Amino acid sequence: MPGVRLWQSVWRRVGPVACLAVCAGFWTCPKAAAQPPTALQHTTIVLDAAHGGEDLGAALGSVPGAEAAAPEKVVTLALSQRLRALLTARGFAVVETRQGDVAMDEDARATASNRVRAEACLVLHATNAGSGVHLFVSSLAPMPTQLLMPWKTAQAAQVTNSLKLGNAIHAALSAAGRDGDLALTIPTTLGRTTLPGIDSMSCPAVAVELAPLRDKDGKVTSEVTDADYQTRVLNALAAALLEWRSEAGAA
Ligand SMILES: [Zn+2]
Repeated sequence: MPGVRLWQSVWRRVGPVACLAVCAGFWTCPKAAAQPPTALQHTTIVLDAAHGGEDLGAALGSVPGAEAAAPEKVVTLALSQRLRALLTARGFAVVETRQGDVAMDEDARATASNRVRAEACLVLHATNAGSGVHLFVSSLAPMPTQLLMPWKTAQAAQVTNSLKLGNAIHAALSAAGRDGDLALTIPTTLGRTTLPGIDSMSCPAVAVELAPLRDKDGKVTSEVTDADYQTRVLNALAAALLEWRSEAGAA
């Protein structure tokens, strides 16, 4: 591709020093600077557990606000750690934006993600509202990769890939309920919205928000803290990322 060849030529001349200089400020370097992945390379996945520190996120559970309710920050970190184990067992290299109960602003999360030039970034949230899994992709309009991408809208160059990744995850979650038992169905939606952290990420990125499972009357049948429910969702995410990696390797 001419665009890639042009960038590779520029990259050889200006080198990573110039790139690091701009990446530290209001610009970010395009994903094309990374070596194309091969089937033999580890694919790096970024897991961004939302909230942390004083930012508790939502109070999750049947009785929000009760002492037994789990803070969202605890659930997202647990999801990140469990998914990391599943992905490393499948040969992925995994980077977590936070590994403990620490506060991180959106720029720090994007910086951590962009530094490793990941093949996919998943931002993990949880909620009491709705049912199943809510997937969100940035609402930025797609634009071609430029030599330097403005920091606040870097995701625009990846938003088409992010939609593909979102569709791959949607398909994997839908397949997780196709074993003849309707009670195992995981309702999944895919939407677009403004996502300040993701909008600065230069990787294909999807926000994954886990909601409880509900019966037809709206009664909760599985809380977001339910280990079996989490396992089914996380296995589907891992399957989607395996598919994503195989497609990248074949490209
Ligand atoms: Zn959240």
